[in-house]
Amino acid sequence: MNTIDWKSLPFGYVKTDYNVRSYFKNGQWSPLEVSSDENLNIHMASTCLHYGQEAFEGMKAFRGKDGKIRLFRPDENGKRLELSAKGVMMQPVPIDLFVEACKKVIKLNERFVPPYGEGASLYLRPMLIGVGPQVGVKASAEYMFVVFATPVGPYFKEGFKPIKVQIVRDFDRAAPLGTGLFKVGGNYASSLVAIDRGHKEGFSSVLFLDAKEKKYIDEAGPANFFGIKNNTYVTPDSHTILRSITNMSLRDLAADMGMKVETRQVPVEELGTFEEAGACGTAAVISPIGSITDRETGKVYEYCKDGKAGKVCTQFYERLRGIQEGEIDDKFGWNVVV
Ligand SMILES: *Cc1c(COP(=O)(O)O)cnc(C)c1O
Repeated sequence: MNTIDWKSLPFGYVKTDYNVRSYFKNGQWSPLEVSSDENLNIHMASTCLHYGQEAFEGMKAFRGKDGKIRLFRPDENGKRLELSAKGVMMQPVPIDLFVEACKKVIKLNERFVPPYGEGASLYLRPMLIGVGPQVGVKASAEYMFVVFATPVGPYFKEGFKPIKVQIVRDFDRAAPLGTGLFKVGGNYASSLVAIDRGHKEGFSSVLFLDAKEKKYIDEAGPANFFGIKNNTYVTPDSHTILRSITNMSLRDLAADMGMKVETRQVPVEELGTFEEAGACGTAAVISPIGSITDRETGKVYEYCKDGKAGKVCTQFYERLRGIQEGEIDDKFGWNVVV
């Protein structure tokens, strides 16, 4: 029945069999409903469509060598969705319901969980939207929580290669006291033009600076930034950065590998002092950074001069993927077997 070529799957949408849904109405969440409909039937005055009452999550399930399916730290995604929900005044989804929905959507779509060793995975997209009709600026009284799944191919089809990144100063993804720390669509809407221009100018990704002073590294569109020097893992700290679960995990791995870990402001000039740099997030785990070009000043910071990913980035990537695929002992207890 499956005729999917797992290796050449893009990071895109492929229809699967089922999605799961729960509705918040009259003060309570409904039991999970299973649907095979790809469409949502919502009121045209829904607050998600007008006032951005929307938040989402992204996570991956992997099939291990032992045949078991593992989901990486779903409780952390559940907590973050709760934070995002509160940030845009939505009804939070109980963490238990969140994890149950994720497990259920994986089981229902088990035939789409790629086999071990293809580098592919089943990507889950949980989302929470305000669906109550409202014309005045107000939070909705009704919400819909949906989790759908789609198989995605290996992120690095040509291998684990360094990428080119561009610093942008004429766009901000989030205001200093705004919604940058929440995983909400609005932050993405405000980053699309800069990301698209970056792609057209030959870069894989853009790096935003702090919106207030333009002095510190914030994050790279949909991924956090980190730098490595003197056996230290350095990652920016600011109110506007989305708390990446990959980054959180890399900090634990770094400490476990005997490195120092610093979460603090990272001035742009410090880019010149790192031995390695990378972007991290669920999609790629790690994208090793080969060079960072400051679009306005023209300054270029280079890392992997030989065109290969650095040693530390490679170690991180292999350890994290190894844990996610059940090849390396999960000493932190991050995996949930489905
Ligand atoms: C989702 C996301 C990340 C990565 O977070 P992970 O939990 O590691 O997937 C980084 N930055 C932004 C803005 C994001 O939305």
